[in-house]
Amino acid sequence: MNIKFGRRFFLIILVVMVVSGIITLHLRTDSSSVADNPVTSTTMTRFLMDTAIVIKAVGPDSENAVNEAFAEIERVEAVFSRHLPDSQVAKINQHAGEWVAVSPEVFELLQKGIYYGRLSGGAFDITIGSVIELWGFGSGINRVPDEDELRQARQYVDISKVEIDEERGRVRIPQGTVLDFGGIAKGYAVDLCKQVLKENRVISAMISAGGDIAVVGVKENGNPWRVGIQHPRISTDILAVVSLVDQTIVTSGDYERFFIEEGVRFHHIIDPATGFPARGVISVTIIADSAADGDALSTAVFVLGLDQGKELIERLDGIEAVIVDEDGDAWVSSGLKDEIELL
Ligand code: AMP
Ligand code: MG
Repeated sequence: MNIKFGRRFFLIILVVMVVSGIITLHLRTDSSSVADNPVTSTTMTRFLMDTAIVIKAVGPDSENAVNEAFAEIERVEAVFSRHLPDSQVAKINQHAGEWVAVSPEVFELLQKGIYYGRLSGGAFDITIGSVIELWGFGSGINRVPDEDELRQARQYVDISKVEIDEERGRVRIPQGTVLDFGGIAKGYAVDLCKQVLKENRVISAMISAGGDIAVVGVKENGNPWRVGIQHPRISTDILAVVSLVDQTIVTSGDYERFFIEEGVRFHHIIDPATGFPARGVISVTIIADSAADGDALSTAVFVLGLDQGKELIERLDGIEAVIVDEDGDAWVSSGLKDEIELL
């Protein structure tokens, strides 16, 4: 009995020692990995959301952080692309006329879309899908639709007809209407990507997704990031350079997706009032804390044009802009004048 107790006691002590040893070892490994992991820099490029996306990140586990950031973009694309038949947005479109339950993030971005629709007096309208499809942006088979087709498609473009049931998290769009988050989803993805990098202890980073760019902190050398705005007509040139710390810069341009027919450029930013590509400006850059806001505003201001665009930008707090008109002249918002270097 005594011996048995002694053995059992010994065993219990042994188990306690082993377990606590393992725990101590584990804790030590964990904390030493934080302290010892050298800060590295990782740069990766992947093609997602129809765009070559480059992420450069600096941190103690930068490779893992960048992989997780790309996984987040992939996830956002799977939710918001109207071209992927299983996405939530495709489901709303497939079931036009019926209530469709959606996740909180779809609800939230839809509400943001509606907000910018109102703010821009309808220039930004995420129900533009039926018209976008006619022009073939997305499918890749571009053509100029005739007036009748456009009139028909335009009757389904009306954000005020989208019904949202906040209590039950449901959405209903009219039959014939096609939701298209192309003007805002990439910015939203870039915002989440930035968040994922920060959660993964990244101290300095740049995410560049076509015209949507976000930076984390400052550059490795401690200076602000310097981001170039692409020249709208010379693809290898830069129009201006802006210094940024922890901000986002989003550009909408008529050079991003377009086709030329009989010498006329037809691009992918559509004026809901006409069904035709918006005319007057050729590039709009927005600097904001959130790329989703910048994305919606860059598309909205592109459609509004120089005069109304200027007026909207100047009355918004924390938003700066560069608008390039058809003559190639760049207008710079008042709060950006000291931060920009025009080339
Ligand atoms: P962006 O490059 O951000 O200006 O977005 C252009 C994309 O937004 C297009 O490819 C369409 O998917 C969508 N879009 C085009 N015109 C509009 C509009 N007036 N309002 C909202 N989204 C639009
Ligand atoms: Mg946009």
